[in-house]
Amino acid sequence: MTQETSFDLLIVGGGPGGTTAAERAAAAGLRVALVERGPLGGTCLNAGCIPSKALLHAAKLYSQVKQGRHFGVLADNLRFDVTLATARQERIIHTLREGLQSQMARRGVQVFSGAAQFIDARRVRLGETILSGQASILALGAAPRRLAIPGADLPHVIDTSQALRLEHLPERVVIVGSDVLVSVFASILAMLGCEVSVVHPQAALLPMLEAEQVSALRQELRAVDFLLGAQPLEVLPDAMRVLHEGAERLLPCDAVLVCDGRTPNVDGLAELGLDVHEGRVVVDEFMRINLPQVYAVGDLNGLSMWAHSAMRMGEVAVNHLLGRPDRLRTHALPTVIYAYPELASVGLTEAQARAAGRQVQTAKLPMSANGRFLTENEGKRGVCKVVVDGPSQQLLGVHLMGGNASEMIFGFAAMLEDEFRVADVQQVLFAHPTIGEIVKDALHELR
Ligand SMILES: Cc1cc2nc3c(=O)[nH]c(=O)nc-3n(C[C@H](O)[C@H](O)[C@H](O)COP(=O)(O)OP(=O)(O)OC[C@H]3O[C@@H](n4cnc5c(N)ncnc54)[C@H](O)[C@@H]3O)c2cc1C
Repeated sequence: MTQETSFDLLIVGGGPGGTTAAERAAAAGLRVALVERGPLGGTCLNAGCIPSKALLHAAKLYSQVKQGRHFGVLADNLRFDVTLATARQERIIHTLREGLQSQMARRGVQVFSGAAQFIDARRVRLGETILSGQASILALGAAPRRLAIPGADLPHVIDTSQALRLEHLPERVVIVGSDVLVSVFASILAMLGCEVSVVHPQAALLPMLEAEQVSALRQELRAVDFLLGAQPLEVLPDAMRVLHEGAERLLPCDAVLVCDGRTPNVDGLAELGLDVHEGRVVVDEFMRINLPQVYAVGDLNGLSMWAHSAMRMGEVAVNHLLGRPDRLRTHALPTVIYAYPELASVGLTEAQARAAGRQVQTAKLPMSANGRFLTENEGKRGVCKVVVDGPSQQLLGVHLMGGNASEMIFGFAAMLEDEFRVADVQQVLFAHPTIGEIVKDALHELR
């Protein structure tokens, strides 16, 4: 017999968007149901942010030890065992997933396993059970875009989830697509000794970043053959046929990694009355959709397909539901490319600021001007660029490559949020020696 249980809030999707919303709502005293068809943690924990960082770290360690002679670290017979590295990844995922499960239990979130079938936007069927909410948050995520050329179904054509669970390393890999993850996987696989080519249909690599960051990254990844503006034509059992600069090329390979972005999981949602435009659920700054008491967060609304954005959107939706003042502000959303070296940016690039009609001042410094960077990096490149509004001296953008750029960027995001001027940044005490100091130094070089 079908049984209906109602909650204050029904959340569908247990990735970073859904679980953050669930935690915040339950902490505020709401009765929350969370439905997840796969493992808790979504793409981020199980096939994205976490396993890719574990593999990146392993690859970095391997490449640093290979070059350890510069640091006085000598090792013989060094080799990389991908199965051990993957086993470590799985242990990390397991630990974090258990932590997430107990966090949900501690907060009193009722977690239901299974694929929710929508009856309407606030009611789902799960086998014999119907779950409903006074309000609902949809956090259904996105699925990898597939390659649509002959040979795309050959067994050596893999997606990013499979690339994070390799049983052996390919000797030669072609990465196809224009997603931000292209550089991440190119960096990891090149460090592990694979021969890497990138077939990148768009002409510009990482167009949202500063040109200086991208060119420094290209120099660091000089072993990678980037074919920008190239079209994939066909996958063959041992090669890929592509069109580049008007000529056909055959790229020998034993694996093809498709890295062409993800499309929001909107199937069936328009039929429920949701406003779906260009494959995304349309939301306002409070994450509301066109139906009352229904929100869409994370990759599903396509506004910013990062885990940190999904979490923040989950918070914004819950705050709106609770009547607390909050909205999604996007001007200080960090962009991070977790390659080695790392790139991290927040705010406007010089070109974006000029296009917005600002009179800008900029400054850039190579990371080699920074003491801490030099102690930790041998022969590596890096760059820092700052963008400032000339008349007001307000900080508009900070763009870094090198060091733990991903760890530093939140501080500069906070400065942007608080509308810091150059003089305000100059009064902040940066610990010495740290790589972050380079931003303060760069601000002395403005012109
Ligand atoms: C390889 C890779 C690396 C990445 N690295 C980073 C990174 O370092 N930093 C970063 O910020 N972002 C990263 N991302 C992006 C990040 O993973 C996503 O932006 C984030 O997971 C989006 O969160 P979400 O909650 O919107 O969706 P998801 O994490 O995709 O979660 C959606 C969940 O909804 C569930 N679901 C869908 N439909 C139903 C249904 N009908 N019933 C029940 N459950 C359902 C799915 O099973 C899924 O678990 C990476 C992505 C990939 C692929």
